[in-house]
Amino acid sequence: MMEKDIYRVARERMVETQIKARGIKDERVLKAMLKVPRHLFVPSSLRDQAYGDFPLPIGEGQTISQPYIVALMTEALELKGKERVLEIGTGSGYQTAILAELATWVYTIEKYSTLQEKAKAILFELGYKNISFKIGDGTLGWQEAAPFDAIIVTAAAPQIPLPLIEQLAEGGRIVIPVGDEFSQVLVKGIKKGGTLHTKSLEPVRFVKLVGEYGFKE
Ligand code: SAH
Repeated sequence: MMEKDIYRVARERMVETQIKARGIKDERVLKAMLKVPRHLFVPSSLRDQAYGDFPLPIGEGQTISQPYIVALMTEALELKGKERVLEIGTGSGYQTAILAELATWVYTIEKYSTLQEKAKAILFELGYKNISFKIGDGTLGWQEAAPFDAIIVTAAAPQIPLPLIEQLAEGGRIVIPVGDEFSQVLVKGIKKGGTLHTKSLEPVRFVKLVGEYGFKE
């Protein structure tokens, strides 16, 4: 088998046993996860583990999220194809690619330029042309590009940052892990009549969101 076929088979198995088996049903999400070559987003020494049922280190003490968590969060955003999405925590860029498959435009913010430069290079190589990148404190959002139809935060926050609630469009969805630095619950919020209505999805564990409306350094 060619190397790319080995990875394709690994991806098919990942979607069947980790994602579909745990109840993810959105066909567009499943299709995106079958398509995006996750192994390109992990350090080359960890490539053979890229489709495993766990997060992996990507440098700067950060991690690429477990495939199931990426699927769960993405499904919760209810993307139909026409949305403008804000992502906080570019990290490896894997979640960014999934979002770019499913929405019109993705705005992604990362604290570490080293990580975002790497992610940007891979996303460029894969041909994505609907992504805007920014280095900085994502807890402040991206005022010039607001409002957003969907916002995803891929790091743990003590509470939902106010600027993000403000920058969410009416009817928009936000998905964010909320809790302390050791454990969190994945929260989904929908903005209706100017107020955010939230519900808890699942217990999760993420690295910290560090910033003005996040954890302190
Ligand atoms: N979606 C990424 C997750 C990376 S981990 C992936 O699957 O690869 C979370 C990321 O959030 C880290 O890269 C971390 O550096 C970043 N981060 C933490 N605080 C941030 C902040 N205030 N603004 C932007 N990014 C932040």
